[in-house]
Amino acid sequence: MLAAVTQGKERVALVDVPEPPQPGPGEVLLRPEAVGICGSDLHLVAGELAVVGNATFPRVQGHELSATIEAVGVGCRPELEPGQRVALWPLRPCGECYPCRIGRPNVCANFSLYGVHVDGGLQERLVVPQRHVFPVDVDRPAVAALVEPTSIAMRAVNRARIESGEPVVVFGAGPIGQVCTLAALDRGARVLVVDLVTERLERSRAFGADVLTWTDRGSVVAAATEWAGGDVPVSLDCSGAADAVLAGIEMASRAGRVVLVGMSGAAVPAPVVTFVAKELDVLGVSVCQADEFAQAVSLVERYQDAMAALISHEFPFERTADALAFAMEHPTEVMKVVINL
Ligand SMILES: [Zn+2]
Ligand SMILES: [Zn+2]
Repeated sequence: MLAAVTQGKERVALVDVPEPPQPGPGEVLLRPEAVGICGSDLHLVAGELAVVGNATFPRVQGHELSATIEAVGVGCRPELEPGQRVALWPLRPCGECYPCRIGRPNVCANFSLYGVHVDGGLQERLVVPQRHVFPVDVDRPAVAALVEPTSIAMRAVNRARIESGEPVVVFGAGPIGQVCTLAALDRGARVLVVDLVTERLERSRAFGADVLTWTDRGSVVAAATEWAGGDVPVSLDCSGAADAVLAGIEMASRAGRVVLVGMSGAAVPAPVVTFVAKELDVLGVSVCQADEFAQAVSLVERYQDAMAALISHEFPFERTADALAFAMEHPTEVMKVVINL
């Protein structure tokens, strides 16, 4: 069978690899159908291995995966049957470290991800333990592949404790910002999305969000505060840009929540007194837990058309290397690139 193997920096090749064995007890054999490409994939291809938690080459990428079940080992949940379309929850926690012991496996100190630290979906067959697969009832495999990025949005709105009617300011209108927007709107929140790129904001507007083009920090804080009616209870950063994070901290109301989803190495020089005087909750978001993955399945099932609108480019499996190169070379033009197997 074929696998797209990232052999080294900017070296991706389709190679013949052995078929996996039949699934053992509690395992399923998957036939991958669609794989979404995201920023962490591009870091990996670029050879920035430390950015994605010390990954190694060679690696079969693909952590945003939809697949059909081809065979089921003994002892799996009855809903898992051959032919069933599923989405892959890629998180592999250790189960023993402090966060694992207190029920926060999504921030396990020793976690690995399918498609990043162990081989993932860009191959014709894959065996995984049954706990990693969730049935998903959507027509298009490419849309089902969006469950994984959506699961991060579910984690974000849960961490943010977003309630109906609350104004929420989202920074960054890339795929994660868009699915966070959709998840917050689904909770009944009012959402203002801020980005530099007008075309990206148009997609958020189509979902029902208000939009604001980024100019400078002071203007954005003033405009967002006015939009919210004087108090911004929740700011949610999906950009990782220091100035956006600072704007989110500055605009957050007293007793507000500042939620950080976008990842970067940027330092944020905010005055300590801001956090103390406003009693801010600063909430990081890293991947998600199993129940949130199930919530993401539900959101994708209910918003299939909106989700499909996020897929900007599709490539066949044979052109995996081109798909990754295209995503790297067109960062603002690309929303979500999906590879169909
Ligand atoms: Zn991803
Ligand atoms: Zn752990």
